Amino acid sequence: KKIILSGIQPTGVFTLGNYLGAVKSWKDLQEEYLCYYFIADLHSLTIHIDPAKRRAQTREAFALLLACGIDPEKSLVFVQSHNKCHAEMGWIMDCCSQFGELSRMTQFKDKSAKHPDNINAGLFTYPALMAGDILLYQADYVPVGADQTQHLEFTRDVATRFNHTYGEVFKLPEGYFPKAGARVMSLQDPTSKMSKSDTNPKATISILDDEKTILKKFKSAVTDSEAEVCYREGKDGINNLMTIYAAITHKTMEDITREFAGKGYGDFKTAVGEAVAEELRPIRERFAALMEDRAYLDEEMKKGAERAAKIASKTLTKVKKRVGLLLEK
Ligand code: ATP
Ligand code: MG
Repeated sequence: KKIILSGIQPTGVFTLGNYLGAVKSWKDLQEEYLCYYFIADLHSLTIHIDPAKRRAQTREAFALLLACGIDPEKSLVFVQSHNKCHAEMGWIMDCCSQFGELSRMTQFKDKSAKHPDNINAGLFTYPALMAGDILLYQADYVPVGADQTQHLEFTRDVATRFNHTYGEVFKLPEGYFPKAGARVMSLQDPTSKMSKSDTNPKATISILDDEKTILKKFKSAVTDSEAEVCYREGKDGINNLMTIYAAITHKTMEDITREFAGKGYGDFKTAVGEAVAEELRPIRERFAALMEDRAYLDEEMKKGAERAAKIASKTLTKVKKRVGLLLEK
């Protein structure tokens, strides 16, 4: 079976964007591929979070993956920092990355503009750590949202250069773009993507929001002054709501336009909210049950970490040999 690898940061409860753009398809991929999914807690260190909160969010993120249908019997699910290979590999990848190429990464530019008080070195070398995450497992495909394609391209560049300098070690990973995957935008600023670290709660739908909250947030979503539900340039807010509705109901944009012809945005927003609430309800229920069973979560995390270390250490040892680190006897 081909190997799929992807990660998500424990920077907050997953948003509808994370779900429709990533985790929902991760679940489906389990049937066809060997899937490795991890909570990217080392990556989350690039932004400041209260330590107790980071710890809690890491366990929650793990439970959220399971609640979304990731099955630890089928897939490898683990916390990044529990497998020490990631940090070690990250440093080696840092030393294989050029200042110039890292400077061109748009996520670095975006995030440093957002947090001007904390432009740390980790934020800058984030793509090198990510390259290590992927290459350690010799992944064939990496499902990433559109916001991460540049980092994947970077990973391939680093891997190619490494193979060229030290001899073939790495398989070159390819992006995987699920047909049904959607890029979800902020409800308050539909020109920027929905992010779980967004500080304005009205801008994001959390996958644990209840129906009332979801309906309210969609009601106050920014749209335009026309009254036409149709997908067209310049209608970012409506386009976003249509994208969400289509991703859940599998209707086409034409279907949706027909369905809401002659109706106002109010009706449309309610329909989108109801569809989203219906989709998320079982996840919220499963999450609540999982959080009651801490022993189970801890046990699954431990099993995941052990399996991950076993796989990753094979690649890491090869890499260390190739670069000339003297292996301990
Ligand atoms: P943060 O704001 O902390 O960066 P995030 O919401 O961007 O959080 P990540 O943990 O960085 O989430 O990314 C997890 C996955 O979700 C990635 O595959 C990413 O491409 C995808 N993703 C993130 N935001 C969206 C979005 N708005 N629409 C679709 N996919 C998304
Ligand atoms: Mg992100």
